[in-house]
Amino acid sequence: MKKRSKIALLSGAILLSAGLVTPALNSTVVSANPSEVKKPSISGFINHDELKRKMEQLEQTSNGNVEVNIVGYSNHGREIYKATIGSGDKVVFIQSEIHGNEKVGTKALLNMIEEIGKSNSPELRQLREELTIVAMPMVNPDATELNRRGNEMTWDEVVEQFPQLAGSQPSWNYYTYINQYWDYASNPGFDVNRDFNPDLNYVPQPDDFPNRSSEPGWFITPEAQTIRDVYKDLQNQFGKVDVFVDLHHQGEYVIEGTDDPVTLSLSGVFVPDPNTPEGEKYRDYADTYNGEFSKQLNISAYQALQQMGNSPFGNISLYPQNLDLPGTALGSFALNGSGAVLFEITGQTQSYGQKKLGQLTKAVKTGLYGILNSVATDEIYELDAEDYDSIPLTER
Ligand SMILES: [Zn+2]
Repeated sequence: MKKRSKIALLSGAILLSAGLVTPALNSTVVSANPSEVKKPSISGFINHDELKRKMEQLEQTSNGNVEVNIVGYSNHGREIYKATIGSGDKVVFIQSEIHGNEKVGTKALLNMIEEIGKSNSPELRQLREELTIVAMPMVNPDATELNRRGNEMTWDEVVEQFPQLAGSQPSWNYYTYINQYWDYASNPGFDVNRDFNPDLNYVPQPDDFPNRSSEPGWFITPEAQTIRDVYKDLQNQFGKVDVFVDLHHQGEYVIEGTDDPVTLSLSGVFVPDPNTPEGEKYRDYADTYNGEFSKQLNISAYQALQQMGNSPFGNISLYPQNLDLPGTALGSFALNGSGAVLFEITGQTQSYGQKKLGQLTKAVKTGLYGILNSVATDEIYELDAEDYDSIPLTER
């Protein structure tokens, strides 16, 4: 298993294993023509039309427990939805598929909206009473429809929206490359998950381009703007967004020191702690950042998965730590005081397809319910943040 994952890493190039970490943009890494690659089926996943139907149906059949809103539109005019469940004062914001080739999270999230919205079990009723759950499935629908990471938007469209950027170099996360899976050259786009800025009121400035991954983003894409606006509305309404969970996919790995294939990886660290010397540049956020709470949330997901017993659900690892990614939604929102959790589910659709879809969906739901239950019951505060470091690492 170990060997196979290493070979896959080499032959599939860095793009397959990227996850939250930025994929290589160098088109010389791979040479195949996108039209020659046989793509795995993704028919078991949800497309945007199905999402639309599902959201309408959920609102109509949940006895008023699920409120559905269109909160924005993608660059190509596709609806971006928000579902709100519960009336508690603790806010849990969960989003999926900001990378359009990372689709299991959407399936899991829709499933959970339905369960929590419709069930009258005491446990799920308690979630509705204690929490306000805000779910945004498929936040980058143009990328979903193209089954790719980046949205569908040109730099010229950015400049139309922000004329002050005329003459600036395009941002570093602008994709124009061709590889064996995608042709961004004839249809460019941005990694929306590098377009966030911890200053939620930031306005794009020419001097901040092209920037790089350890610098904040700019809110130049309508998808990131929509997510930011939902986040700010929640801050205004509730004072803060207690928890933010972002559902992603990564390549295929093993748990460090074993041959056990990773089912999913977790993380709660996306920028250096503003209270440490390494986090000096984030000092303005020292009072709001709560790294300990992020770690407790990760432990709650990890423990819920470990309770599934000795099964694939037990094969959970930590995603690489020591990241400095302020342009991610997780990095920006963690600096704003949200406890932050990253799920990196095994396998991206362009190479892995829909293998183990049922099992992976169940793993995501188990981890998410672990978080929701611990926050609803306040048991989260009894977890020891130091246990985070005993979650095994990923061998990459
Ligand atoms: Zn991702």
